[in-house]
Amino acid sequence: MSLNTKSITELRKLLVNREITPLEIINDLEQAITANDRKINAYISYDFDQARKAAASADLSLPLGGIPIGIKDNINTIGQPCTCASQILADSYTSPYDATVITKLKAAGAIPLGRMNMDEFAMGSTTANSSIKITNNPHDLSRSPGGSSGGSAAAVAAHTAIATLGSDTGGSIRQPASHCGIIGLKPSYGRVSRYGLVAFASSLDQIGPCSKTVKDAALILNAICGHDEMDATSLRAETPDFTANLTNGIKGLKLGLPKEYFSDQIDPNITKTLNVAIDILKNAGAEIVNISLPHTQYAVATYYIIAPAEASSNLSRFDGIRYGNRAKQNSNLINLYKDSRSQGFGSEVKRRIILGTYALSSGYDHKYYEKAQKVRTLIRNDFTTAFQTVDAILTPVAPTTAPKHGLNTDNPLKEYLADTCTIAANLAGIPAISVPVGKDESNLPIGIQILAPHLGEDIMLQTAHTLEQNL
Ligand code: GLN
Repeated sequence: MSLNTKSITELRKLLVNREITPLEIINDLEQAITANDRKINAYISYDFDQARKAAASADLSLPLGGIPIGIKDNINTIGQPCTCASQILADSYTSPYDATVITKLKAAGAIPLGRMNMDEFAMGSTTANSSIKITNNPHDLSRSPGGSSGGSAAAVAAHTAIATLGSDTGGSIRQPASHCGIIGLKPSYGRVSRYGLVAFASSLDQIGPCSKTVKDAALILNAICGHDEMDATSLRAETPDFTANLTNGIKGLKLGLPKEYFSDQIDPNITKTLNVAIDILKNAGAEIVNISLPHTQYAVATYYIIAPAEASSNLSRFDGIRYGNRAKQNSNLINLYKDSRSQGFGSEVKRRIILGTYALSSGYDHKYYEKAQKVRTLIRNDFTTAFQTVDAILTPVAPTTAPKHGLNTDNPLKEYLADTCTIAANLAGIPAISVPVGKDESNLPIGIQILAPHLGEDIMLQTAHTLEQNL
């Protein structure tokens, strides 16, 4: 029995019945990682000894007792490296504390195992911006797994992880999940604490699960959500059991299809596959309603002002003094900053810092940053209006399936457009999930995105589960 191929739900059953031990899961994962991660490169690092120690004392009565979970390498886990796939942190930084999600995972009995590859500081949508290694898509090694949580998604798809955590600022959980054929969930903004997540764009970032099943995603969300006084943006919201409504079906639910998301920019094979999934939901009792989200076309431009602006401020802490590797030889303090940052950051991160600094600079902040904030409100209002008539919204996750490596290397703008379907959820702060619904003719996975109102994860998960069960 190779335990690495099983879901959390299946493993928990075996663990509770004492048919297997947590140690056996770690052993099977180690075997799978040793055999396959050379091809996939999903892991930046791992520490099986530490995981085994935790496994030996795992409390199986807890909801995630004995379950190893891979962690994106921008989420602090005490005693482990946290590189953010950047040379500015590589080989030097060890987390002195646990992010709140890690504290919560451990409290639920889970075992953090492995640090997952990502685009440097989560900036990108291919994982090729990692300064450490390039992750390959398990469905076709010549292709990208998507990004920025490409390692988190690829490992789950390759069965070298049971489930993982990713972070999503503009699509970084959902888009790689779609490209790898797994579940990826971005919670409502404020649902999950960002304390201990290395900040990219603080008003957009959320941590969420990558998993094999919708129920597994719900189980992880149960464990990591909830108010945290260490994160001022964390909400004092009810934290229901997200698995409770999964089997309730979707009879009578109204699901909206926004015309702006089903444009000719979407690969027709994707549209075709999504239509099959939509029919399945219809047959399961949902009412399909055509809707409009009129400001959709401005989402990418708005995001690429706001996200770099916040990043330029957040990344100022990596100066070679407070945080980050220090350049060797320096004549003076300014050169020390300059050299440390020039040597430590990759080109996409530099581009974002320059863009963001410009957008915030005196005289231009009104023109760019403030304007972007206003458009952000319009985008959020679009959703508020739509959710007065529908319970959830269905869209593609990405305009194409997994791209070949290096496709848009010379054209960042083209790569930015890969996020057209995912960014609005971050700008609006609403939850969204990617569910695999089929494959294209090259056998590459296709996902559908389900969006729900703020704090409407339960309806979103219910819809996702119904779809998964009927596919
Ligand atoms: N691809 C987007 C970007 O490059 C989103 C990244 C993310 O969600 N972290 O910014």
